[in-house]
Amino acid sequence: MSEKDQRNLLHAAAVEGEILGKSVQQWEEEFPMIKQIRSYEEVFWSNSNLKPVDAALRETGVTLEEVKSAESRLKRFAPFLMEAFPETRASKGILESPLRRVEAFQEAVEDTLYGVPFGRLMLKLDSHLPISGSIKARGGIYEVLQHAERLAVEAGLVNPGMNYRAFAEPKFKEFFSEYSVAVGSTGNLGLSIGIISAALGFKAQVHMSADAKAWKKALLRKKGVEVIEYASDYSVAVEEGRREAEKDPKTYFVDDENSIHLFLGYAVAALRLKAQLDGIGFTPSQTSPLFVYLPCGVGGGPGGVAFGLKLIFGEHAHCYFAEPTHSPCMLIGMMTDRHDAVSVQDFGLDNRTIADGLAVGRPSLFVGKVLRHLLEGVFSVSDDHMLADLSLMADLESLRLEPSALAGLSGPSWLKRSTPVYESLQKQYSPEALSQAVHLAWATGGSMVPAEVMDQDIENGRKLR
Ligand SMILES: *Cc1c(COP(=O)(O)O)cnc(C)c1O
Repeated sequence: MSEKDQRNLLHAAAVEGEILGKSVQQWEEEFPMIKQIRSYEEVFWSNSNLKPVDAALRETGVTLEEVKSAESRLKRFAPFLMEAFPETRASKGILESPLRRVEAFQEAVEDTLYGVPFGRLMLKLDSHLPISGSIKARGGIYEVLQHAERLAVEAGLVNPGMNYRAFAEPKFKEFFSEYSVAVGSTGNLGLSIGIISAALGFKAQVHMSADAKAWKKALLRKKGVEVIEYASDYSVAVEEGRREAEKDPKTYFVDDENSIHLFLGYAVAALRLKAQLDGIGFTPSQTSPLFVYLPCGVGGGPGGVAFGLKLIFGEHAHCYFAEPTHSPCMLIGMMTDRHDAVSVQDFGLDNRTIADGLAVGRPSLFVGKVLRHLLEGVFSVSDDHMLADLSLMADLESLRLEPSALAGLSGPSWLKRSTPVYESLQKQYSPEALSQAVHLAWATGGSMVPAEVMDQDIENGRKLR
């Protein structure tokens, strides 16, 4: 049986009744791509609602000052992080990840459908962020730090000019032990929040969806975090977590679907990336555009990063989200402009994917609205595709990444495979400019995956190549 035949066998379940007052057939007429999405095909959606970046940024109400203030807060906490996590001493308590050119990978896919049409391919290795080994080490850790700072200031424990190394002292830990932090997660956010909360002395509860990997739950329990498991998906875990937290005024709920703090923590990545790109002599511009591909679950992580990139680089940073073919929630939400009012399950999709970090059926309304006029597009990727790329990256680049982290790598190919996009890029940029482009796939996680689990994924991926 050909791959195409196999794919045709895979079709979304029949949908009973209407979705927001319309039948599936009506949705498919209005948005023909829904038909392909319901067949779990890989698709590419180009946003036709883009506005000039300045105007679109102003409409969001989120400012560069807020992002800079988040960056300053992270800097204040650097001495604490160095104290609590010795692995951060080398970077002076700043949590940042390297950039890496992946030439061998680019060459290996060159003559396939997924070849990079122009420019050079690089990875942003959030997989190797200290403390929790994923993009969640940006937003999650930031949010808990800002909460801890606020509590400490209110209690009179912080005086002006104080060195935040003090947050590692027993006095602070005792103070925070009266308080809890709770979160709902598919895994990695729970890891970030759980680890940083425990380090500060908070009690922590992590509500985990069915997709969460066993090793993530075990690691958290070892750190003294209470893990509550659900047989259902991410949205239910978040809802239950939120409800439980509301019962206790001393419990702070990290709201992955709506949190401005998470969003700002993620956005700081752009300020850091600017310094890194300066370091390699690259400035996104009319003569050297930047294309960034961000794996997307509920949207907070990639949304914060993309927003920050638009703030710092403007129109010459082109941002795309990547989602599993079984969980394209942001794609459906933004394309229909109905955001969290529709889920992938509404359209008969099962939201089951090997990319646990992206197994989200309903997107963040907050992120969808902020990026409505800023995000260039969203595309989807099959599980087999992510696994094959996972093994290729391990074999050719010695990079061990988790499945979600590979979702962005087919992004560059869509810039040519989608004729309207290619034509508009050729209007905007000269051939020389495109040849100078950098494609940056955000490799969002992986360094904490246990060796046995990783080896198995690599093996499975090799079989698919
Ligand atoms: C959470 C996660 C993402 C996506 O972040 P969202 O905020 O859920 O959109 C991507 N990759 C990995 C590895 C993740 O853990």
